[in-house]
Amino acid sequence: MKKLILLSVAVSFLYSAVFAQNNLQKGEHFCSHKKMNSPNLSMQIDSDSPNSPVHSFDVLDYKIYVDIRSCFISPYPKSFNGNVTVKFRVDSALSSIKLNAVNTSISVSSVSIAGVSFTHSSNILTINLNRTYNPGEVVEVKINYSHKNVSDKAFYASGGHVFTDCEPEGARKWFPCYDKPSDKATLDLTARVKGTVKLGSNGRLADSTVRGDTAYYHWISRDPIATYLMVISAKVNYGLNVTNWPRPSNPSILVPIRFYYNSGESITSIKTKVYNMMTHFSNRYGEYPFEKNGFATLSSQFTWGGMENQTLTSLCKNCWNENIISHELGHQWYGDMISPATWADIWLNEGFATYSEAVWFEYTGGYTSYKNDINNNASYYLSNNPGWAMYNPSWAVTTPSTSTLFNTAITYYKGACVLHMLRYTLGETVFFGFMKSYSEDSLGGFRHNTATTDDVTAKLSSYVGEDMTWFIDQWVKQPNHPVYQNTYSITSAGGGNWTLRFTAKQTQTNSPFHKMPLTVKVSFTSGSDSLIRVMNDVNNQSFDFSFTRQPTALVFDPGNDIVLKTATTTLGTSASLAGDESREGSERYNENTFGADVNRDGYVDAEDVRIVESDVLSFGSGYLDTDVNRDGTVDATDLAIAENIAAINFIVSEP
Ligand SMILES: [Zn+2]
Repeated sequence: MKKLILLSVAVSFLYSAVFAQNNLQKGEHFCSHKKMNSPNLSMQIDSDSPNSPVHSFDVLDYKIYVDIRSCFISPYPKSFNGNVTVKFRVDSALSSIKLNAVNTSISVSSVSIAGVSFTHSSNILTINLNRTYNPGEVVEVKINYSHKNVSDKAFYASGGHVFTDCEPEGARKWFPCYDKPSDKATLDLTARVKGTVKLGSNGRLADSTVRGDTAYYHWISRDPIATYLMVISAKVNYGLNVTNWPRPSNPSILVPIRFYYNSGESITSIKTKVYNMMTHFSNRYGEYPFEKNGFATLSSQFTWGGMENQTLTSLCKNCWNENIISHELGHQWYGDMISPATWADIWLNEGFATYSEAVWFEYTGGYTSYKNDINNNASYYLSNNPGWAMYNPSWAVTTPSTSTLFNTAITYYKGACVLHMLRYTLGETVFFGFMKSYSEDSLGGFRHNTATTDDVTAKLSSYVGEDMTWFIDQWVKQPNHPVYQNTYSITSAGGGNWTLRFTAKQTQTNSPFHKMPLTVKVSFTSGSDSLIRVMNDVNNQSFDFSFTRQPTALVFDPGNDIVLKTATTTLGTSASLAGDESREGSERYNENTFGADVNRDGYVDAEDVRIVESDVLSFGSGYLDTDVNRDGTVDATDLAIAENIAAINFIVSEP
């Protein structure tokens, strides 16, 4: 009878150290945080995730009217008149409010409703109210303004094409607003345009009317939007095609997908892909969260590949590209439905969206295709790493340059690789369970709201049932990556028994020790290889593995799952283990346990038994649901492994 011993040791918590650091990093920007604990406010802001910054008021709705009809007519001026009614809830008593409005772009002519006077300088519009308002009151101010005939990289007009592009701080260039991503609001937008224009925006099309050579478009978004995701995409004679996607939860509800395209562009093949993508991402992340979806290709003045404006993604000219679209569609969950509370949390957008590209590759081309994409991301990062962390607390206060904020190696590729390593650490089921639980979490203040990195860490820990602060801290808050210089030795213990000692060592000086589960593959003079997974939680940690056959070689991280690393692993001279007193801290493993960590959580425990038993039972009916060896397909090899494990008499310690 074989025995399987419980390998897990106590989980080590870095909790106190990390917590102390967070408190230091918050700084004055979060001084308003204390308001959250104020009893008279708790009811009002309970929908915010715990660490989202709050200010003295909370914008509920922007009602925008813009007359941009002349912007479509040669010589295509960028000037227009408009007004915005800002409805906000007072969170602490106030008699004036400050909004963002860039002076070089916006000229304010008057304020009304509760607004009685204003000043506009240094890009701040201060509106004095007709009285002091108390917490809980809902107030409206109307601002009449005009946009100047300037190129401001936010409002574009040329050749019959008019569009906005706002991330991170462009919204304040085309309408006065509280332009921070933490304050989301619904949007009601009406635009006056030329009669031949088609105009798309966020939310649903409530109305469109044509009177002579003038048209009005009225869009209403029932779901709150971060200001940087509010958009207008419009063109004379825009191509438009609408297809409907039935909600999986209620197929009688059809979600329109609107495709706005330039003449000469074909959307035939991408339409089917988007449809399938929405279904697949709904399976992975929770059902598509908005009432409409849409994509619009813009003019060559749009220099990004894509921009994930809520329910109406902007794309570069002729960019009906599957990779760009899978990225932007991923944003509708991560970035749009759950927006970053601050710009320090940008990786929650771009890391997750870049990972979504790989998720789509996995759907279309299997695990190998997914992993190739992740590997490519890692290679780019390793060659182009500028050496800063993904999360920089100062970015919450001072928005960095776009070249820093949107650094490809860090914000995008490192972010996606970290999610892969989270999947490797947690196992596929727990990882995607977390992705869905995070996006569907209303109680925690995430769904249709905002998140800080610390909020997500807390959510992750809560979902996994284990403090995951160590993982986020080392990969997200610290710069760089581990450099392994591992060694192993093989020793005969006599009587046909062998010991392999593996020592995991990290040598980087520009980043702390990274705790990770490590996988090694051991080959032998006879028989099949063994995969072993151990939790490496201190540096220079040794693991002794005992075998009844002769090991010949060890491969470190054979699946290259710790993608953000460099590593060498060398075979040292065989040391005599007899009388070796230096084993303190090392752990012993028996070959019989190999492969038994089915869910790859670093521990062989009752959960592994449950999975294997379930699989073996399932196989009786011709179905095996666990890709035990993680080769991307569930097949006979998995069954063989599962049956082999099932044949072992599991002994696990019950808590
Ligand atoms: Zn993106």
